Amino acid sequence: MNEVNCKSALIGCFGQPIWENPTEFMMEASFKHHHLKMRYISTEVSRENLTSAFEGVKAMGYKGFNCTIPHKQAIIPLLDGLSESAELIGAVNCVVERDGKYFGENTDGKGYLTSIQELTDPKGKKVVLIGAGGAARAIAIELALVGVREIIVVNRNVEKAQELSCHLKEKTSCESSSAQLGDNYVIPENTDIVINATCIGMYPNLTERVPVDIESFKPHMIVSDVIINPPQTSFLQEAASKGCTTLDGLGMVVNQAVICVKVWSGVDVDPRVMQQTLYVLFEIHK
Ligand code: NAP
Repeated sequence: MNEVNCKSALIGCFGQPIWENPTEFMMEASFKHHHLKMRYISTEVSRENLTSAFEGVKAMGYKGFNCTIPHKQAIIPLLDGLSESAELIGAVNCVVERDGKYFGENTDGKGYLTSIQELTDPKGKKVVLIGAGGAARAIAIELALVGVREIIVVNRNVEKAQELSCHLKEKTSCESSSAQLGDNYVIPENTDIVINATCIGMYPNLTERVPVDIESFKPHMIVSDVIINPPQTSFLQEAASKGCTTLDGLGMVVNQAVICVKVWSGVDVDPRVMQQTLYVLFEIHK
């Protein structure tokens, strides 16, 4: 037998739930398309098992992994260091091994930014951000860093909204305020971009609705949802019915994944390969 390297670099994805997350399909398609000797494995990991799972990663020499709900903040104290943006965001969705040490990065917000920039330049815009969890924090920081004028953070747990709003004012030059996500949140009329960064409407809770006043959607607004599954949430459908331009979560998930592959392998992969995989998976015909 000739000398052949049969070993692939291992990449994981840890979360709970994980079964509705399509990242493994698009990563594997991308690795295959670009002849990258890498494998991507999604694993259901509970809060209690995160430390043991990370020990497994180190023992098996994984090159990296993604973290999703509920591990994006819990992973931080286990790591050897953070990138500047992960530090600022306070959450990690991508971990990479370098010289036997593991470092945290956050690509979520950058993925959203690339996606929204295909529709508008966020600079100077007013944003209503619904949610204050890991995805919302990443989006808020990246939008603030590119010069969004104002972000209103609206969340069920209003203390978390206040905390994120204060963090934005302290660390960036963006104006910010907070509000409670109650029964019928009214979006201010001069809002340019509305973002749902909560889990409301995520599979299998398809009929759960984001409690905003449907009459406050105005045609000049760009309304986006970060939920991946399903891509067409009831939130986006309501906004579209009022004439808004809508943006689904698939662009964000593809863009953030492209950055992750660059972090793990140094290779710039073609986002269209991942996008096509998701279109097939979700039976989207474009
Ligand atoms: P997280 O840190 O757990 O935050 C969850 C957020 O959703 C919190 O603001 C939480 O409010 C809110 N929420 C959950 N259930 C709610 C309910 N029934 N009513 C009101 N608010 C509710 O999760 P995350 O990581 O930010 O993820 C949030 C969503 O973003 C998920 O659907 C995830 O799949 C999606 N995501 C998409 C991408 C992408 O690339 N497209 C990337 C990352 C995440 P409280 O603080 O009040 O609990």
